[in-house]
Amino acid sequence: MTRNWSYEDLPRGSTIRDVAESVDPRVEALLQRYFEHFASPVLPVPVDSIAVDLLGLTVDENDELDVSGMLVPSEHQIWLNGREARQSSGRRRFTLAHELGHWICQYEQGHVEPRYCRADEIGVGAGRKLEREANTFAAQLLMPEPLLRREAVELKLNLHALARRFEVSLPAMKVRLQQLSLLPAYMQ
Ligand SMILES: [Zn+2]
Repeated sequence: MTRNWSYEDLPRGSTIRDVAESVDPRVEALLQRYFEHFASPVLPVPVDSIAVDLLGLTVDENDELDVSGMLVPSEHQIWLNGREARQSSGRRRFTLAHELGHWICQYEQGHVEPRYCRADEIGVGAGRKLEREANTFAAQLLMPEPLLRREAVELKLNLHALARRFEVSLPAMKVRLQQLSLLPAYMQ
């Protein structure tokens, strides 16, 4: 199921900053750029289109990849683990968003060497410095705080329904809700 949405859906007069104090400004800028280019943004966040159409990257899958995801900045290329991608579209989307985090946060800051990202480095709250930065970027891109707050109310905090609507894995959704203090203690 897809839903049309945009930042116009936010409460009148508010901006994403008003409701999302800790949002990475680079995520905000990327989403705003997306909205400027494409008339009808939808949930789940179209991460493939953002990678390919907006950022001009090539995204391919390879079953032989021995990591979950790989960014080759010099070739503007992202490789995803094909076996993992078939197991879970949510996992595939998070890995892709994670690699976009490396591209936006690090490549554009001068880190040009390829990134090889293992499964244990990818996930909300996982990894060390550069991996953690990419994970935070991915979570904010796939589950933007104001939209997650809105949908959490609409779907009455049904974790499965929320994970489906944002097309992320159940664990990723749960951790994101915990980070935003949206999950009551009895659900943790
Ligand atoms: Zn990584």
